[in-house]
Amino acid sequence: MYQQTEIKSYMPVNLVIGRQCVSKGKKVFLETGNKYLIVTGKSGAQKSGALYDVLQVLAGKEYEVFNEIEENPSFESIQKAGQICRDKKIDAIIAIGGGSALDGAKAIAVLGACEMEPMDLFEKEIKKALPLIAIPTTAGTGSEVTPYSILTINKWQTKKSFASSLIFPKHAFLDPGYTYSLSEYFTLSTAFDAASHLFESYLSKRSTSLSQMYANQGMESFSKCIGPLKERKFDEETRYNLMYASYLGGMAITHTGTTAMHALGYSMTYFHNFPHGFANLYFCRPYFTRMLKAVEDKTLHVIEKMGFKDYEDMCQFFEEPLDKVNLTLKDCEKYASLANMQASIQLTYGDLKEKDLVDIYLEAARL
Ligand code: NAP
Ligand code: FE
Repeated sequence: MYQQTEIKSYMPVNLVIGRQCVSKGKKVFLETGNKYLIVTGKSGAQKSGALYDVLQVLAGKEYEVFNEIEENPSFESIQKAGQICRDKKIDAIIAIGGGSALDGAKAIAVLGACEMEPMDLFEKEIKKALPLIAIPTTAGTGSEVTPYSILTINKWQTKKSFASSLIFPKHAFLDPGYTYSLSEYFTLSTAFDAASHLFESYLSKRSTSLSQMYANQGMESFSKCIGPLKERKFDEETRYNLMYASYLGGMAITHTGTTAMHALGYSMTYFHNFPHGFANLYFCRPYFTRMLKAVEDKTLHVIEKMGFKDYEDMCQFFEEPLDKVNLTLKDCEKYASLANMQASIQLTYGDLKEKDLVDIYLEAARL
């Protein structure tokens, strides 16, 4: 019997992709708020040139700069910035930076609009948020088009995302030129994150014909970057293709969420300091082995669409820049129980139980 999967789609982000789009979008910066908080990390916004461009278009407007968002944002920094918003009557946020600054800014947009504790973001209904303009300076997370913000929860020793349609940025400006200043290391790790959004979305139990359209287009764009990523040569076209792939990955996971690979990766970041994209792809072999078993046709499609000859070719590509880490059985058991708390495990084919997650950590560490 013919059965169409239910498709739901909501995408309220007004988006521009192109060189100098911030300068060309001056009107948006003049209209979105009267007093802005510009949220950034320590250095990326400045190095990329994006902060300079934003300050130019804001000429005459009132603003404050909060540049304390760390990689994998903490409760402390978002709480501090939320308080600044309320004290100084900030009415709009501009986020400039990688996924960390963008995710931090989404949380600040909520805490700046309603007095609540950071933990409430995960436990209470979100009723209000300040309008947000997002300007990514990495090409990886797609956070500029997602309703997710991922924060570090120290008391749980992990990262967790909260979601709300109110934290979709109102506007997003994607200028690939802002990623030229990224180091080789972060260009690779963020590209890996974009790839993982694309294939995990395609392989999610929630994927639909619509989400697959974004994932397919994004994987095609990513496939053009394999050669340059191998050679560490990032010309203008590659920077564009990576940013486009990242945006499409964001669109894809907005429809489906991520899967086990992201859930497994959080402990590699929390306990071993892996940047987010490398943390995910640390599990390339064990994840894809299981996907090939559970959904072979879809998995073969993904490998081919990303431009790899086969499973081995793909694994070697993703493993090449990763550091080796020794994990004990005790580590693997602890990380598996943390990963098992993430809802994305249930969206993964293969019916993964906690003991399977322990095996995946052990296999990844042995390689
Ligand atoms: P990031 O943590 O935002 O930034 C990584 C590093 O790159 C930082 O040291 C940053 O410096 C630097 N940097 C950023 N842009 C730069 C530039 N143009 N030039 C030079 N340096 C630059 O990395 P990310 O991979 O983009 O974001 C990772 C975070 O996003 C994780 O917390 C992850 O969980 C989250 N994420 C969110 C979503 C979502 O949908 N919301 C999806 C996937 C991942 P500074 O810190 O000094 O500025
Ligand atoms: Fe991610």
